[in-house]
Amino acid sequence: MEKCIFCRIAEGDIPCAALTESERVISFLDINPVNHGHALVVPKVHVESLTEALSQDLQESVLTVQKVARACVEVTGAEGFNVLQNNGRCSGQEVPHLHFHVIPRWAGDGFSLGWRQGRYKDAEMEDLRRRIAGKLRRV
Ligand code: AMP
Repeated sequence: MEKCIFCRIAEGDIPCAALTESERVISFLDINPVNHGHALVVPKVHVESLTEALSQDLQESVLTVQKVARACVEVTGAEGFNVLQNNGRCSGQEVPHLHFHVIPRWAGDGFSLGWRQGRYKDAEMEDLRRRIAGKLRRV
């Protein structure tokens, strides 16, 4: 099976604008940045979704997200940042290899997540809470 683009970057087969590299995790600048300094943090082992990640890969990825965010904010002078992580095509995931976006932000920078928030009807919220909490007790 053909390797995905982030596996090929992790293996050094294709170049990237590297920021950090360890045995488990790499980070590099996004080639099409939302804002300058937009970075990606990628565990090297190929999994598509956060739910499939090995816990050590996940732990190191999140710590790397923190380090990369600090550095990107300091270097770009950003006022804040978003950490985004898409799972599945419906969520906007284009590269099917787990990754975290670190996006430096400025007031009025024109980037919007376009959230639309709704409301639950009657007992819907409690029904969902009960089912999800029950599932979590069995994990
Ligand atoms: P997502 O939509 O969450 O899967 O995001 C994938 C991201 O990977 C996009 O923001 C792309 O711009 C970025 N990307 C794709 N190919 C490369 C590459 N070769 N080097 C750096 N970033 C890339």
